[in-house]
Amino acid sequence: MYNRVNHQIVERLQSIAGKNNVLFDAEALELYSHDQTPNVKADPEVVVRVTSANQVAEIFRLAQQAHIPVTPRGAGYGLSGGAIPQLGGIVLSTEKMNRILEIDKENLMVTVEPGVITGDIHRAVEAEGLFYPPDPASLDSCTIGGNIAENAGGPRAVKYGVTNQYVCGLEAVLPNGEIIRAGGKLVKNVTGYSLIQLLIGSEGTLAVVTKIILRLIPLPKIQIDLLAPYDDFQKAADTVSAIVAQRILPTTLEFMEQDSILAVQQLLGREVHFNQAAAHLLIQLDGNTVEAVDADLQIVGELCLQHGALEVFVAKDRLTRDRMWEARRKIIEALNHMSPVSHMEDVVVPRSEIPKLLRGIKAIAAENKVRIVSFGHAGDGNVHVNTLKESMPDDLWEAVVPVVVEQLYRLTLSLGGMLTGEHGIGLTRRQYLPLALDAAQIEVMRGIRQVFDPNNILNPGKIFP
Ligand SMILES: Cc1cc2nc3c(=O)[nH]c(=O)nc-3n(C[C@H](O)[C@H](O)[C@H](O)COP(=O)(O)OP(=O)(O)OC[C@H]3O[C@@H](n4cnc5c(N)ncnc54)[C@H](O)[C@@H]3O)c2cc1C
Repeated sequence: MYNRVNHQIVERLQSIAGKNNVLFDAEALELYSHDQTPNVKADPEVVVRVTSANQVAEIFRLAQQAHIPVTPRGAGYGLSGGAIPQLGGIVLSTEKMNRILEIDKENLMVTVEPGVITGDIHRAVEAEGLFYPPDPASLDSCTIGGNIAENAGGPRAVKYGVTNQYVCGLEAVLPNGEIIRAGGKLVKNVTGYSLIQLLIGSEGTLAVVTKIILRLIPLPKIQIDLLAPYDDFQKAADTVSAIVAQRILPTTLEFMEQDSILAVQQLLGREVHFNQAAAHLLIQLDGNTVEAVDADLQIVGELCLQHGALEVFVAKDRLTRDRMWEARRKIIEALNHMSPVSHMEDVVVPRSEIPKLLRGIKAIAAENKVRIVSFGHAGDGNVHVNTLKESMPDDLWEAVVPVVVEQLYRLTLSLGGMLTGEHGIGLTRRQYLPLALDAAQIEVMRGIRQVFDPNNILNPGKIFP
């Protein structure tokens, strides 16, 4: 059991972070009670907007003494409830730690605070001809600290990988108030266990990250985007496998079913390209010479047509490209708009199994008489599977969701996949962890958590069933 936040605790928090940065009015508490995960929320007792690692350390020491839980929060754009203070206590928001501290052009590294919005990092380094590839679709809202906690991916993961491939150094505050600095501006480093890799993807349960050093690469000079509509979703799925088997690595290889496109159209209030198609592939290619990109474009275009694409539409200008990507980035918002109650899963399978996965999802939808809309990062085997409630009666919905989820997980695992590719376990998937991981692995993970946080102060109730 935890203690409640009382008046003295609030005063001590105010003396640590300043009065303006300690919020406890009902409106503020509501604002920090949820992330972007539908249908889950819990009010914190107090919110502290920290501005330094030392403040985080002092808050931890206070929370340890008083035995009060602390939940770190970036922008609250997570999709597994990780930033929700399920057991009350303190929400520790990094939103004010939002400075890009240095772009080091000699070492090709950028040093940032955790509350920087990911898209701001992209724009700042691209202005210098450099490139930070991880690009979650939420990039103009989410923070880099949240990306590290979730090991966020994005459409460009097909070619460039996910967040953990770019983090070279981290400063973090442990739940006992110690500040650690791991790694640095180092391309290689095998000095001891990699605490950096352990903290990445730990969903805010081991430490609070307060400074980050990211590796950059040169910005590719040429980029081309193409959209391939299909009259049959299976043909689109087969194309994904065919492109991967050809050993071409597009920058992105995104899959969208027609319902997701129609939902975006409804949200935007204007027509989206090829809205009658059963499915779309949105493909981006990049490189440093027109010849190299054109050669890949030729092969990918032909593969799309051979597998039944109705046509291959190449975006010739920035406006068309931005509109194509706007449609993709708005899908989650559009589906929420279409069916305010829905359930999203984030399964990942070996890329070659995408056709079987998508076929299986259709069968699950038919069996349970529910609408399921799939879209996502098909090029890295990661599909977002959205079950929509629409006008289904509440009791039927409550009964059908767990059945759909379990069938989906069993299908995914049978294909050699895993429960989540990028959204994390958090609150919403924790009861399913034993389906995917054996007891021995879960025990090791619990042990690691115990070493970092023996008193269970940091983000309790997350990941483990
Ligand atoms: C429309 C939409 C599209 C999305 N697209 C993608 C996508 O393409 N790819 C993808 O990977 N995700 C995607 N997401 C999910 C989400 O944006 C990412 O998980 C993102 O990393 C969350 O960042 P955040 O700052 O909002 O974190 P929050 O939601 O605030 O927190 C997420 C987790 O990180 C922890 N945390 C936050 N900051 C710190 C810190 N400094 N130290 C330690 N722990 C911390 C929190 O405790 C919590 O457990 C999408 C979400 C939405 C709503």
